Amino acid sequence: MPTVACPECSAVNRVPDARLAEGPKCGRCGAALFQGRPVDLTSASFAKHLNAEIPLLVDFWAAWCGPCKMMAPQFETAARMLEPHVRLGKLDTEAEPEIAARHNIRGIPTMILFCSGREIARQSGAMSAADIANWTRGQLG
Ligand code: ZN
Repeated sequence: MPTVACPECSAVNRVPDARLAEGPKCGRCGAALFQGRPVDLTSASFAKHLNAEIPLLVDFWAAWCGPCKMMAPQFETAARMLEPHVRLGKLDTEAEPEIAARHNIRGIPTMILFCSGREIARQSGAMSAADIANWTRGQLG
């Protein structure tokens, strides 16, 4: 029974495995826990999503980065492919430089896959939605 952070209010919800695919709602605010798109992470919500038990895949990006813009719709499609087994989030490295620094982001786009707060893999460079999904599933076994 993994914990999942709400994309709207960041409340941590415990969701039975059997209910993950049934459109679970947040117990605090009622929002859908999975909305078919990446969550925009901020310093206020990053730790909640990071420490939830569901794996977290973060796209570290910036508005000035051409390859990041190319990858954005691919990452969005990958969210639909990987939810509800993985939470996808986007972290604007210009808006949240401390978080980027803490995770040693040297080039963007960089994706990091976290499990229960621990980094288990990272990948730099733009990827297609199918490659993002395959890479993530491969890391999670
Ligand atoms: Zn909520």
